Amino acid sequence: MASQEIEDLAAALARLPGLGPRSARRAVLYLLKKRESAFTPLVEAMERVRANLATCDICGNVDTQNPCGICTDPRRDPRSLCVVEEVSDLWALDRSRLFVGRYHVLGGRLSALDGIGPEDLGVASLIARVAEGGIDEVVLAMNATLEGQTTAHYLAERLEGYPVRLTQLAQGLPMGGELDYLDEGTLAQALRARKPVV
Ligand SMILES: [Zn+2]
Repeated sequence: MASQEIEDLAAALARLPGLGPRSARRAVLYLLKKRESAFTPLVEAMERVRANLATCDICGNVDTQNPCGICTDPRRDPRSLCVVEEVSDLWALDRSRLFVGRYHVLGGRLSALDGIGPEDLGVASLIARVAEGGIDEVVLAMNATLEGQTTAHYLAERLEGYPVRLTQLAQGLPMGGELDYLDEGTLAQALRARKPVV
């Protein structure tokens, strides 16, 4: 029988997405056995991230620096801006390595059902970034869900009149598809074949 501390650790791990009580217990056992090679490095890595965790004031990305690594990367094309719902979408798209511009995280999607309006999302900061100038293309990379597409239409309306090319991911995305769950090939294809918003 494990001590309360070990039980607490297993319970905390079991609350993580993708882990249930069973895999959490296996992970704990593994960590206890591999104290030097796995447990200590994990704790140190977590502590380093936790201590420096920040939300980027410019784009809404989560990183260990603010502004984030993407916003401060001089190799990124500042004229291209990709708007996503969540940080997970940003990470998924960036894994495809096809988009060389910068991002803007809305922090959700419009939802009448959940009472989420534009003021609850990073819409004002998006408009401000576009209004500031220097951006040629805005990619509306919303999820292929009803709410995602409603959000994209709303943003397209709000961005009307600004001298930017509005594009969206190709319709190769499966309906209901959330970016984070797509394989990188599908995502890369949707990004490569992006088309103007009509
Ligand atoms: Zn950023």
